[in-house]
Amino acid sequence: MFDKILIANRGEIALRILRAAKELGIATVAVHSTADKDAMHVRLADESVCIGPPSARESYLHIPALLAACEITGADALHPGYGFLSENARFAEICGEHGVTFIGPKPEHIRIMGDKIEAKRTARRLGIPCVPGSDGGITDDDEAMRVAADIGFPVLVKAAAGGGGRGMKVARTAADLSDALSTARAEAKAAFGDDAVYLEKYLEKPRHIEIQVLGDGRGAAIHLGERDCSLQRRHQKVMEESPSPALNAEERARIGETVAAAMRELKYLGAGTVEFLYENGNFYFIEMNTRIQVEHPVTEMITGIDLVNEQIRIAAGSPLTIRQEDVILSGHAIECRVNAENPATFRPSPGKVTYFHPPGGLGVRVDSAVYQGYTIPPNYDSLVGKLIVHGRSRTEAMMRLRRSLDEFIVDGIETTIPLFRELVRNADIQNGDYDIHWLEKFLAAGGMDAG
Ligand code: ADP
Repeated sequence: MFDKILIANRGEIALRILRAAKELGIATVAVHSTADKDAMHVRLADESVCIGPPSARESYLHIPALLAACEITGADALHPGYGFLSENARFAEICGEHGVTFIGPKPEHIRIMGDKIEAKRTARRLGIPCVPGSDGGITDDDEAMRVAADIGFPVLVKAAAGGGGRGMKVARTAADLSDALSTARAEAKAAFGDDAVYLEKYLEKPRHIEIQVLGDGRGAAIHLGERDCSLQRRHQKVMEESPSPALNAEERARIGETVAAAMRELKYLGAGTVEFLYENGNFYFIEMNTRIQVEHPVTEMITGIDLVNEQIRIAAGSPLTIRQEDVILSGHAIECRVNAENPATFRPSPGKVTYFHPPGGLGVRVDSAVYQGYTIPPNYDSLVGKLIVHGRSRTEAMMRLRRSLDEFIVDGIETTIPLFRELVRNADIQNGDYDIHWLEKFLAAGGMDAG
């Protein structure tokens, strides 16, 4: 097992990793920018190293500074969390070259899944069902036209290097296609420095359903059920739940086993998520995330399995100790991502938190690095924390969520808590009757104001 883990991240996920390391008896090193010197993960870690100025490029993304921090503190492993360098294959390799274990998948798997064209090709080879679309990248408009005519409009132009919903454009008719291609290419070039795009059938009313997996890198792999992340704004997840209200036990077991078998064949190492769109009883692969995800607690709550603990143990070379039949999905869990944003306009609202009272009680978990008196810096994402509830049934989880949201007080800044209070009182949400466009429509119709 490792002696000391350096946590190459900040905010709630840094704290989450720190907790898992502490429970395993492993010493922790926090790194931070000058903007984060008062952050909770810095306070709670055994040691901390300032790695640069507020700009992420010069701190949390600055590879030499991170390696120097490992060297100075003698850390023998590094956990990248999510975002920042977590899906940078070259960084994973560099860690290895410097004798620091990267707590994550093999670099070659990060690389394959980071290129969405390559990822789809691999998924197809592994027997995972995909969205109909172009076989590879689209180089010219004529080819795009042929593929679109073949799969039928509407189509979606997507960036090969895509992430965070950027570089995605819908073409409803042949007349829109040329514009969609050039806009997506320009956006992808600006955001990722790579203008490769591909074409997919645009699904009108799908749900976003993703499967959590764990693999030991030697051919053993299991799945831990699904998460339904259909409630999205600008392709960003807002609220997640497990099990999905849309799946039956047979569908769950079938897709879970398909994904687990694929991961066994790939000899996948560590935690990962295979994402699908689900429509009319069919699953369509869209991408794989080779890291721990923001919404991982939803799975932890219904399985009782600590995913970050498993990531660390697998990276240290332990075999998978959990067999598929040991994974028991129990009850229902829901997560709300609470952001420092105006709940109607989503304008960021960083600043000083003058009062912080998180909810508690049976089945309530708050993953947050915020404390009273803490100033949320404007330099990073606006996540204040995640509220996760668990109940024996979906109804119980919903009741508990409603109660917890009413209890949650964050003063001094604006947060999206009022939006969630509206959502839990909405009939469609209560009935589990929503797709990936539901939230945008709700907000466009006046959302909170319309009631
Ligand atoms: P990113 O890596 O940018 O997050 P994804 O491929 O994961 O991109 O897609 C993000 C979201 O975009 C999905 O959750 C879904 O809401 C929407 N989306 C992606 N592909 C399609 C598609 N073929 N049809 C309809 N919506 C899609």
